[in-house]
Amino acid sequence: MSDFDTIIIGSGFGGAVMACRLAEKGARVLVLERGRRWTPNDYPSVSKRHWLWDEQAPERRNGWLDFRYFGDMSVALGAGVGGGSLIYANVSIEAKPETFEKGWPAAIRYDSLKPHYDTVGQMMAVQTLPENQLTPRTRLMQEAAAKIGAADRFSLVPQAVTFDPQWHYGLERPHDSRHSKTWINAQGRSQGTCIHCGNCDIGCPVQAKNTLDLNYLADAERHGAQVRALHQVRCITPVAGGYELQVRDLEGRRDIRLQAERVVISAGSVGSTELLLRCRDQYRTLPKLSAMLGKGWTSNGDFLTPAWYADREISPTRGPTISAAIDFLDGSEGGARFFVEDGGFPDLLGNLMEKGSRHYRLRNTRAARALMRTSDRSDPARRLMPWFGQAVDEPGGEFSLGRRWLTPWRKDRLKLAWDYRKAEQAVQGLADMHIKLTEATGGEATTPATWRWFRNLVTPHPLGGCNMADTAAQGVVDDRGEVFGYPNLFVMDGAVVPTALGLNPSRTIAALAEQAAARIA
Ligand SMILES: Cc1cc2nc3c(=O)[nH]c(=O)nc-3n(C[C@H](O)[C@H](O)[C@H](O)COP(=O)(O)OP(=O)(O)OC[C@H]3O[C@@H](n4cnc5c(N)ncnc54)[C@H](O)[C@@H]3O)c2cc1C
Ligand code: SF4
Repeated sequence: MSDFDTIIIGSGFGGAVMACRLAEKGARVLVLERGRRWTPNDYPSVSKRHWLWDEQAPERRNGWLDFRYFGDMSVALGAGVGGGSLIYANVSIEAKPETFEKGWPAAIRYDSLKPHYDTVGQMMAVQTLPENQLTPRTRLMQEAAAKIGAADRFSLVPQAVTFDPQWHYGLERPHDSRHSKTWINAQGRSQGTCIHCGNCDIGCPVQAKNTLDLNYLADAERHGAQVRALHQVRCITPVAGGYELQVRDLEGRRDIRLQAERVVISAGSVGSTELLLRCRDQYRTLPKLSAMLGKGWTSNGDFLTPAWYADREISPTRGPTISAAIDFLDGSEGGARFFVEDGGFPDLLGNLMEKGSRHYRLRNTRAARALMRTSDRSDPARRLMPWFGQAVDEPGGEFSLGRRWLTPWRKDRLKLAWDYRKAEQAVQGLADMHIKLTEATGGEATTPATWRWFRNLVTPHPLGGCNMADTAAQGVVDDRGEVFGYPNLFVMDGAVVPTALGLNPSRTIAALAEQAAARIA
């Protein structure tokens, strides 16, 4: 029928794991990824181009970050070979066992997922920040937890980053890439060790981040899988013996058709839900999809509060983006369940100066060195603490296709109806805790007006839309991710997660994919 047994749509946490495990089992696997294949030489921070993905014009703008505005809720997504692992903050953490007690199919419980969590931890080479490398943010978190009597709730978070125990902040120009040590990973790819440059969200310059292109996808390719970047799947149609995909080759600017016996949709919570909604309601190629499609979506309660400290250097642009957590997922704060984290961000100005000095071969001149030292000291954000975190909100979002102003006769615009009331208690609990932690450590913070006045949020952790369940009346896919009513059509990514986790979801998504792949013949 085709050169491939299985086509996987998307190469993030769900897609990369499925590609690796199915290719290992001998399947002929093709991965179609809408984004580019990035290398440290062409990250947007280096090339100064290709920052944004534009869903309306992906041939022209197929950059690093896909930012979707849906009114009260906006969603940040990665695009590229490796999906969200390229842009993410490296936190690779298990969900709490209680998470799976309600709202999940009977076959998905913490105990059954645990071996798969462990496998993901090994594949992603998860570590915590070495004790000699705690950042000012980490120390502030630890102190704040102690001051409010929650010292035992503080911990370093597991990260998919390789640290060098010999690296420390006392080195001369500690963030210079010469301090990164080269090593070869288990998949034979060359990587470096972390230099705390703070660029995790815009691409690790030394490949200390253990991103999916360097492990799961590298293994898939070793087992014969093909990965085609800049290929966006637009439609899925059942045909004899399998499915036919309509694919846009964004580089060649042409449409192609591909067939396979089995198709795994791993385009992420937004991407997979949108693709299936179009197949059901716009192209009508998959009319039997569950009425639950698009429903039960959650933002995972993400919230950020900036706090200022008059007499304390925090420098959130240095160190891995997230390093530690204070865990209130037990609901002890008035029933709201949440997980406080620190949230760093890249020093875009510093990166520009660094790049400029490299470009003009001025790096080693006295003037360039003085400029770099000045930029270190004059970091305008050095007294800023971005308190971050996630909360267990109720899945109160629903995706659907709606009309546009200019073409009201067509129903083809992806819309998200989000009921903030289902997130209110959890998110407010997290926001209040940010203020309490700030005040306990002598800082000043106000809950952002976007939440106080407008109840608007931004999430990097969209979950649900093609929810996993025991029946088609309750969800879209079964516990292996197989779509109800469509044999051999699977969804496996954040779209199948039916409840908020209240912490970073990538490890759970990957563990679900490990479990599903183990149960697919
Ligand atoms: C700034 C940021 C920081 C984050 N930090 C963390 C963190 O520290 N820890 C954590 O656990 N999570 C983090 N996340 C969230 C994490 O990235 C996501 O939860 C995770 O990537 C979701 O995995 P997925 O497999 O569902 O989808 P994704 O990883 O998003 O993969 C989907 C892939 O499908 C591709 N695609 C979409 N549509 C199509 C199509 N039609 N055809 C072909 N390809 C398509 C996309 O380009 C993408 O590569 C972060 C996210 C952001 C934005
Ligand atoms: S801090 Fe810098 S070196 Fe370390 S993982 Fe993040 S981007 Fe890579």
